[in-house]
Amino acid sequence: MISKKMEFFVASGSAIRAMFEEGKQMAAVYGAENVCDFSLGNPNLPTPAAVKDAIIQILDQVEPVELHGYMNNSGFADVREDIARSINKKFDTAFSGENIVMTVGAAGGLNVILKTLLNPHDQIMVFAPYFGEYRSYAINYDADFAVVPASIPFFQPNLEQFEKMLNPKTKVVILNSPNNPTGVIYTKETIAELAEILYRKQKEFNTEIYIVSDEPYRELVYKDMEVPYITKYYDNTVVVYSYSKSLSLAGERIGYLVIPNTISDFDMVIASANIATRILGYVNAPSLMQKTVAKCLDSQIDIGYYDRNRQALYNGLTNMGYECTYPDGAFYLWMKTPIEDDKLFVGMAKKYQILLVPGTFFGCPGYVRIAYCISPETIITALPKFEALMKEIKE
Ligand code: PLP
Repeated sequence: MISKKMEFFVASGSAIRAMFEEGKQMAAVYGAENVCDFSLGNPNLPTPAAVKDAIIQILDQVEPVELHGYMNNSGFADVREDIARSINKKFDTAFSGENIVMTVGAAGGLNVILKTLLNPHDQIMVFAPYFGEYRSYAINYDADFAVVPASIPFFQPNLEQFEKMLNPKTKVVILNSPNNPTGVIYTKETIAELAEILYRKQKEFNTEIYIVSDEPYRELVYKDMEVPYITKYYDNTVVVYSYSKSLSLAGERIGYLVIPNTISDFDMVIASANIATRILGYVNAPSLMQKTVAKCLDSQIDIGYYDRNRQALYNGLTNMGYECTYPDGAFYLWMKTPIEDDKLFVGMAKKYQILLVPGTFFGCPGYVRIAYCISPETIITALPKFEALMKEIKE
């Protein structure tokens, strides 16, 4: 008999698995080329050539016992120093290797920092729409989960509601910009105001409230727009970064945490993060990948490819009368469903072999997420199907 908590996860996980299975069945019936699967955020671009070159070089040059052995749980010291230097150069910060903990992707990093910070019934606060796994993590750590309602139509954090909802139990506020699922980038003004509210509330409640800034899409930005570096606005910030999207390394599971010296209880937070990696069972981030990303700090995938998909999909769909949020970052298009019920709309889209994720999954019904990390041909195939779907709805 499995645990009650896992019973819940198995039940909710089966919805996503069902969608995946449905896609496979559709491909068998209609042919893979006719199935337009916009459901997964799995990068479809190859890793930059620099990644393969770096791996070969490392295998040739780094002594195998050093490369493949156990290490400090935070990761290789030289890698952490290189990453800190690169962050400082890009964002005018002053980190050193001691501020960096290498992690198993952003998911690993989120779990390390949540394990570090949360007691049962501490509250995690998120802004709708949000990445659904945050709720699973909250349940796993017996934390309470509070969702600040979406601010429509621009999907910046709803700060008026946020301020009203903050309370002495709030321990962690998760930010995610560029955002999954909207593609929205939170502006400097929003972040500055949010930080000001948190400073005020910390004082009022005499508590510590931490921002956990989940940033796997930081590099996926389509116009000259700043993605604020949150540690510069708020002391109690931990940054969660990942190479899953920027280097298309999702399966390799590599990322890092930035834990600034300005954070309350810095020494204890670092000590705890080091132990959390062990308790969570992955001990340290994959060693070959640590060395690899350190050699690829200035590389990234061809963002122009996602940009072309973004334009084709946004222009195509808005011309048909669909209402979409123009995405400045990430690789998702957030679309209002032309009927109120997003799940029903997703069901109708399936009849045209289009797979979408309902906004309800992200705490924001009435919308769908369309992942455009797919081939341009899929968009060409999908547009007439979307048009037929709109026609059916209008009729
Ligand atoms: N956070 C967000 C917002 C994501 O969209 C994802 C993955 O899609 C993750 C975290 C997990 O990323 P990783 O593959 O680095 O664990």
